[in-house]
Amino acid sequence: MSAQAKELVRSHLAHADGEQEMTREQREFYRERIKEKLQARDAVMVAHYYTDPEIQALAEESGGCVADSLEMARFGKEHPASTLIVAGVRFMGETAKILSPEKRVFMPTLEATCSLDIGCPEDEFAAFREQHPDRTVVVYANTSAAVKARADWVVTSSIAVELIEYLDQRGEKILWAPDQHLGAYVRDKTGADVLCWDGACIVHEEFKARGVEDLKAAHPGAAVLVHPESPASVVAIADVVGSTSQLIKAATEMPNDTFIVATDKGIFYKMQQLAPEKTFIEAPTAGSGATCRSCAHCPWMAMNGLENTLAVLQDENGCGQEIFVDPDLARRAMVPLDRMLDFGKNLKR
Ligand code: SF4
Repeated sequence: MSAQAKELVRSHLAHADGEQEMTREQREFYRERIKEKLQARDAVMVAHYYTDPEIQALAEESGGCVADSLEMARFGKEHPASTLIVAGVRFMGETAKILSPEKRVFMPTLEATCSLDIGCPEDEFAAFREQHPDRTVVVYANTSAAVKARADWVVTSSIAVELIEYLDQRGEKILWAPDQHLGAYVRDKTGADVLCWDGACIVHEEFKARGVEDLKAAHPGAAVLVHPESPASVVAIADVVGSTSQLIKAATEMPNDTFIVATDKGIFYKMQQLAPEKTFIEAPTAGSGATCRSCAHCPWMAMNGLENTLAVLQDENGCGQEIFVDPDLARRAMVPLDRMLDFGKNLKR
């Protein structure tokens, strides 16, 4: 990541505070009020696997969904509710709005962002793109609407390998942004000509291969599950590399009773729910005493709390936390997003 992008990430992190601890009674109070308000406002919650367990449980109990970013986008588009409450990070809210322009889309806080999104500003990305006019531009979902609008394809980690394989077979050279680790992973898996932007996820980048190896030695029967936003050295020792949904699937289907998991620990809620008899262990990072501000939990995902979710639902204008995307920008960003959704649908068939 460039020094400028790192500085931007640092300044955003200064505002990334989660909610204060609540008592059981307080949490119960908030949960019930939120459910009432969701009904009253014809709203549905769409939450990411990395949000806090409390938020994921609430989304499920109230008829919403907990999913990866591709499925969140699909669910929000297809659900009949007129209002979406997107518990995740900003690019997910923007994607929901682009796919469902007729709906009102709110987030518990618009300050919840992503180091990949911040680390790929539109003007710098446009200049990078202009230097390589011969390449097909593929951007990860974790980008702003403005960056998506400049892409040929949008992709999520659940279909990244398949899409790059497909483009490679058509003889296309790829310009990939913004996650360098995922880009390197798909290049390695497909042999395609992939030129990467140098962005990174501050959560996954902190996982350490040495720590994972030590943990594996202590738990010889454990399988190692790794998200491909992690460094290549961690990916290299994985038993399974995949998107959040693919890792959850592996956790439920593999015969192992213990798993070392290198992704945001919010995912443990769903893994534990689907495989309650199994043990899930957080893959080691450098630790809170080092540079790690995230330590296996995204500080921006953690900003989605009960208090700000209720506040947004109680106020007609959502306390100013509504997502708006310029219609012309949305129209342009829709083109690569639509390609992604169609490609994903065809893969499922
Ligand atoms: S976990 Fe990483 S990729 Fe996901 S939202 Fe947080 S910073 Fe972005």
